[in-house]
Amino acid sequence: MLLAFRNGKILTDAGIENGSSLLVRDGRIEAISGAREIVGADQTVDLDGKLLAPGFIDTQVNGGGGVLFNDDPSVEAIAAIGRAHRRFGTTGFLPTLISDDLHVVEKAILAVRDAIARGVPGVLGIHVEGPFLNHDRRGVHDASKLRVLDENAVKLLATPHGGVTMVTLAPERTTPDIIRALTAAGVIVSAGHTNATFDELQPALEAGVRGFTHLFNAMSQLGNREPGAVGAALAHDGSWLGLIVDGYHVHAETLKIALRAKRRDRFMLVSDGMPSVGADVREFRIQGRVITVADDRLVDDDGRLAGAHLDMASAVRNTVNELGVSLPDALRMASANPAEFLNLGGRMGRIAPGQRADLVLLDEELQVLRSWIGGRADPPEEAEPG
Ligand SMILES: [Zn+2]
Repeated sequence: MLLAFRNGKILTDAGIENGSSLLVRDGRIEAISGAREIVGADQTVDLDGKLLAPGFIDTQVNGGGGVLFNDDPSVEAIAAIGRAHRRFGTTGFLPTLISDDLHVVEKAILAVRDAIARGVPGVLGIHVEGPFLNHDRRGVHDASKLRVLDENAVKLLATPHGGVTMVTLAPERTTPDIIRALTAAGVIVSAGHTNATFDELQPALEAGVRGFTHLFNAMSQLGNREPGAVGAALAHDGSWLGLIVDGYHVHAETLKIALRAKRRDRFMLVSDGMPSVGADVREFRIQGRVITVADDRLVDDDGRLAGAHLDMASAVRNTVNELGVSLPDALRMASANPAEFLNLGGRMGRIAPGQRADLVLLDEELQVLRSWIGGRADPPEEAEPG
């Protein structure tokens, strides 16, 4: 099956190319061609001058479509969350479980395994956010769920399930040896909900901490005599930083300073999305606590932010419009950069030969018109002869 895309703009590694065509064979990108007309395609998609970009990859998705993953760690819930975010261009995601009992973590890992085995579109693995966090930086995580990362928990996190396992932990609540054991088992370790000092983070980074979860939020801040987790994240060249660009979690000027402090390809946009994304939900519960949607913010009764009412397309728009990042860079922050962070860069995240055809079509306002996962469109295209 040869699928051709023509008559649009295409974001490639070189930048936004005008007038090129894209060839997809059996779900994989085969070539980017300068030719305007393609001979021999089974199906041709007329992009009508719009922008084709790599599909968005979201490493932090708690919920969507009225569903919270913690409430229902099942294949059906993962599929519903994926569907809700797909409308906003997300073609790859990690369902994200906030701090919970280990038997719930286990249930969630098994649900992700089954979802991958059954081919639920877009699910790439799981993000286990806690419960190995610092009490003082727990945010809306339930204090009674927090625990230390013992041998049983390491074993559980190392359970193979056919996808990526990412864990957010507070490095000061564990040891470099445990971080090393997780990393050796292929787990992607991200520091977050942490009160660690700059010095405490250095051995953790050496042991394999690969990223920082929602930079600035729920972590020790950059101070005059103590650079904190924020300082460690910005000073460390190799690690990836998750950003929630919703206009509420971090001040735009603070984010702009961070973006100037470190190489651009280490930043990745996340939605931190909750059940309200892609659903007409004004109120929901997290572990019994009521969360309300107020002016596109999610707050608990104490006014604390509880995740984000944000989707990836909005995050890209905000990054361009509020942070002044170029469109190609903002799009890469939502695709190539998270793919690299997840060690999936060889398979997805870019429009290049050999990559899976995970694509998003955007109009001039960066609204999502259509997306493809492995060359399969949503919403489906009307058949057009090649
Ligand atoms: Zn968090």
